[in-house]
Parts: sequence; structure tokens; C-alpha cells
Amino acid sequence: MRVREDVLAGLNDAQREAALAVRGPVAILAGAGTGKTTTITHRIAHQVESGAFPASQILAVTFTDKAAGELKKRLAALGVAGVEARTFHSAALAQLSRLWSSHTSESLPDVLDHKAPLIASLANALPPPHKFLPRRELAGEIEWAKNRMIPPARYLAERGDHEPPIPAELMLRIYEGYERRKGTMGRLDFEDMLALALRLFDAHPDAVHEVRARFHAFTVDEFQDVNPLQAALLDRWLGERDDLCVVGDDYQTIYTFTGASPEHLLGFVRRFPQAKVVRLEENYRSSPEVLDVANRLAPRLGGFRKTLRATRPSGPVPVARAVPDETAEFGAIIQAIRRLRDEEAVPLEEIAVLYRINARSEPLEEAFADAGIPYQVRDGAFLRRPGPRAVLQRLKRSADGRSIVEAIARVTDLLGYDPDASPDADEEVTRQSDLSRMRSLASEFVSVHPHDDLAAFVAELARRFSTEHSARGVNLLTYHRAKGLEFEAVFLPRLVDGELPFRSGRAKADPEEERRLLYVGITRARRYLFLTWPTDGRARPSPFLDELELAPSQPSRRSATSVRAVTVGRGGPLFDRLREWRRKRAQTDGVPAYVVFHDRTLAEIAERKPRDWADLAAIAGVGPTKLERYADEVLAVVAAI
Ligand code: ATP
Ligand code: MG
Repeated sequence: MRVREDVLAGLNDAQREAALAVRGPVAILAGAGTGKTTTITHRIAHQVESGAFPASQILAVTFTDKAAGELKKRLAALGVAGVEARTFHSAALAQLSRLWSSHTSESLPDVLDHKAPLIASLANALPPPHKFLPRRELAGEIEWAKNRMIPPARYLAERGDHEPPIPAELMLRIYEGYERRKGTMGRLDFEDMLALALRLFDAHPDAVHEVRARFHAFTVDEFQDVNPLQAALLDRWLGERDDLCVVGDDYQTIYTFTGASPEHLLGFVRRFPQAKVVRLEENYRSSPEVLDVANRLAPRLGGFRKTLRATRPSGPVPVARAVPDETAEFGAIIQAIRRLRDEEAVPLEEIAVLYRINARSEPLEEAFADAGIPYQVRDGAFLRRPGPRAVLQRLKRSADGRSIVEAIARVTDLLGYDPDASPDADEEVTRQSDLSRMRSLASEFVSVHPHDDLAAFVAELARRFSTEHSARGVNLLTYHRAKGLEFEAVFLPRLVDGELPFRSGRAKADPEEERRLLYVGITRARRYLFLTWPTDGRARPSPFLDELELAPSQPSRRSATSVRAVTVGRGGPLFDRLREWRRKRAQTDGVPAYVVFHDRTLAEIAERKPRDWADLAAIAGVGPTKLERYADEVLAVVAAI
């Protein structure tokens, strides 16, 4: 086998072992930031370079378009072209487009964008209390069943202790009706794509043979989040072969609501006893301080125990702080971001603010726009989300001389705005909150510009939310979308009970999964981590803060305004000299700098200026071994200034 060293350069031994295993089943089971995605791109490059498989025979699958794009980009950087990198859905759709008509002599149905329109009239026929339920929740229930491959005929028998949003018999009627209509219209929904591909392959063995003739080696990233439909499809692609590499971290399972289960990952070795299993332990992403916070959640994450070991240099201590209210929280975030940008030279694109549901982006967008800080919203910014978009479209059609507030009230009412709604589905929570915000924006606008017209209001909205430039600026995104990504600085605001873990209406998110979401959030940060929770309102701090041993504190004046600790913010000539000494000493000893002393220890030494061993020993982070090893040198540096 040819081994092209440049394709393997920079990998550690375990990563290299995985990359060299170009044939047969391989599982990489490892924690966040240990280089799983890095390893699979190198492995694929090596599969091609070593001649094990031509690029055109390799299919790499991930879960988001962004991740698939990233894989392609990284492969291109390694000099590999022609590997297919797709999401499960886009792979299934590509295969259906190529094979469906020729094998079934039917034309492939069009894909349906939304389920709600098909459900609307069925839902209107429901008895009173149920007919007002948002369509989105009924659609969500249909997705629940379809992701688990439960057709209407088996819905009542197989839903187990899962609670539908309306009585199960009524729900079944909606589900059947929806499927019937969709069939009559000759349409497909998102879940059908995978199911239809499965049907095609099972009914037409020639079709699956074509896929198998095309693809010989498969790689799946984030395998902990594979659901039964996706796993079944992968089985069809693979057939009796075993050239499959799966990669994942059971601690980061965050899609169980779609039927995903880490069992596929954990059971891989049972299924392929000959599999090579690689475990990666060194984390290359985050500072020891960030990992320390993440590791505190580990004992409660279930699955098999992994502790992340730091390889990166020490960084600033993460900030965890109660703040009086949302305004103070945003103020603190913006102030911290300015410091990061101006004093630490962190590019805005390297900063992320994560939130639990899309609705939370709107006040952040406004705060950023007001502060003149560019931002980008993954997953749809306020004005591009269903609620506000529908309002703007209708406003255009009904500009009929009403006052702005009346016009907005009328349109939002038409769109089903309900101030007392307490919907179960995240999307509906977001839509209701967005409609409510449109109304308050209108009132605010009128109180400031009493004589302006509707067009001026729409222009003001555009201006107000205009700092969103494509792909530039601070990233605003949900925890779910942040999976697999990394940023220099990560902000996790609003850590209150009910938000994380999330609760709305009757729906209470599974706390185990919510804890994993927080784990995903924390492990996105390279150096700067900032956790805050407002203490006004009725919400209590998130119970996870206790688990992180970040005792919920009362907000102080300082906590609202000062975000000093988020930046290194340490300076002074003595601190600089101590760092210089540490650099040399670490180099001589052949260890990373933080092994000698953490930044915070050096900062404390610089502040306290110890004169003897006893002074030095009183400083946190200076134990007997360190004293023995470094005291004389450190005291000399201090004395020399
Ligand atoms: P996640 O679980 O969040 O998906 P991951 O295990 O896929 O993380 P990667 O995204 O591949 O981790 O890598 C995390 C970071 O570590 C990246 O910045 C990557 O470039 C870097 N990295 C990976 N392996 C090494 C290595 N051997 N030496 C130095 N840096 C590395
Ligand atoms: Mg990854």
C-alpha cells in the first residue's frame, strides 16, 4: 500500500491508525474536539491516495449541509477531488432522481416543502378543543412516527408510552388523511425521501445493485445521531460488504426526538466483531479551563465514560455569572465581544452566541444591530422566519390606510397570534413569540414616529435588522446547529430552568438530552467561554449550573457590567516576565506551558509579588511539587523587577 505522508501529517498515533485502516469496518468513538472529523477526512484522502478506492467510489455522509460542505472543503485542501459528501437526505434524493423512473416506470413525485397546508383542513374537522392546535404540532407528531418507520396502520399499536398532542385515535385520522392527500397530490415529504429510497431498493434489487456498483466505501460522521430510517438506508447501500467507517460521540446525541439513538454507534462492534475501534482522548480544540467545565458534566452523560484531556495551552478562566435581567445580559455580552475584538484581536466570525430555540435570536439581533456589531444568523434570522415573513407579505397586500398598530394587529390575528398560547412545538413557540414581537415593534415605532406610515415602519425594520451580513460577523445559532463546529469564543446566555432544560406547554424536553446539548455548547469553545443567567422573572437558574459546580450567585453590580474575566485582561511587566520565564522553562522541560503554571496562577503571582516560599505556597495552583521545582526561579523573577 502506498502511504503518502503529507496526507497523514499532523495526526497523532491513534488518528493515524484509523486513517491507515482503509479497508473494513472502523469505528472512531471519541469525545468532542478530539479530531474525529479531522481523522475521517485524512482517512478518506488516504483511501484515495493509497489506491484502496478511487474517489468516485467513496460516499461520505453527515447530517447538515454545512458539515457536508466542510468535508468537501477539507478534502479539497488535502488535494482530493471527486468524493461525494452529502447529507442522508441529499444522498437519498440524488439516488431517487437517478433510479426511480427507470426502475418503476413512474415519475418521481415532487417534494413537499411544508406539511401544514395539507393538514389544515383535516385539523379544522377536529372537535373543538383540538381544532385550534397549531398545525405544526400535528406535523411534528407525523414526523415522530415517520422517523421511527411507524406507518398509520401500526401507529396505535407501536407508539408505546409516547403521548400524541391530541387523543391517539384522532391523531391517527390526521396521519391517515395526510398520507392519503399527499398520495393523491403525487407529493413526497422529507421523511418519504428516505422511506421511498428504501422501498425502491427493496422492491427493485437492480436499483440497489446500481448504488452498490457505484459506491464501495462509506463514512458517516456524527453517527450517534443516526435514526432508524437512516440506518436502514445505510444498510441497503452497504449490502453484505463492510467497508464502513463510523464516527461519533455518544455524549453528543442531541436528536433522539427524531428517533436517533447512539445504540447504532455503541452496537457497531457487536454487529462487526472484526471492526477496528479507535478511541481518541486528546482534545485539540479547547483550553484546559474550558475542558474542565465540560468534564464536570461527564459523570452524568451516561454512555461510556470519557474524559477529555487537554493539549492546548491554558486560557482565561470561563466566566459564569448571574445577571439582573436580559438587558444586562446582552449588555455584558456586547461589552465582552468588543473587548475580544479590540483587545484580543478575536475576529467576530470566531465568536458564537448559542440559544435553545430560534425565537431567541430576535432580541439578540436587535441588541447587535443597536450596538453596530455585525452578526449572522444560522437557521434563519428574525425577518426571514415564517412569522415575520408572513406578516410582511400580508402587509404588502393590505396597505389600506389603517394605522400601523391596527394593521399589524389585524395581520398577526389572521396568522393565528394567540398571547395565551403555550404551544408544545419549538417552531410554534418561535412563531408566536415572533408575532408578538412584531406587534410590540409596531407600538414602539409609533410612539417614536407618530406621523410615519406603514412603508416607513417596514423600512425601519429592514434597517433595524440590517447588520446581518451574509457569512460575516458574530454567529447566532441554536445548540443543534452548532454541532461539529468550533469557535474561539462561545457565549451561552439564558441558562435558566425552562430554557435549558427547555419546557413549553405540555412539552418537557428530556433532561438527559438537554444536558448533552449543554455539553455540545460548552465544547464548541476554544478559549473563551461565557455562561450567564438572568435572575429576574420567575425562572430559577438552570439545574445544570449546580452540576457544573457553578453555584448560582446573586447578580452584583459588577456582574452586570464587568466581563473582565472573559478576556485574559492581565498585563503588567511582571506578568509578562513571568510568562516569558514560563515559556523558556516549558521549552526546556518539553512540556506545554500550562503544565508549568496556569495563566491565572501567574496573574496572582504578579499581583501578590511573593517574597519567599511561604508567600508563594499560599497562592492557589502552587502545590508542593511546583514549589520544589519552580519556587527559586519564580522568586528571582519577582525580585528582579
Ligand atoms: P466534534 O466532536 O465537536 O465533532 P471532532 O472530534 O470532530 O469534534 P475536529 O473538529 O476534527 O474534532 O477537531 C477539533 C480541532 O482539533 C480542529 O481545530 C482540528 O484542526 C484540531 N485537531 C485535530 N486533530 C489534531 C492533531 N492531531 N493535532 C493538532 N490539531 C488537531
Ligand atoms: Mg466532528
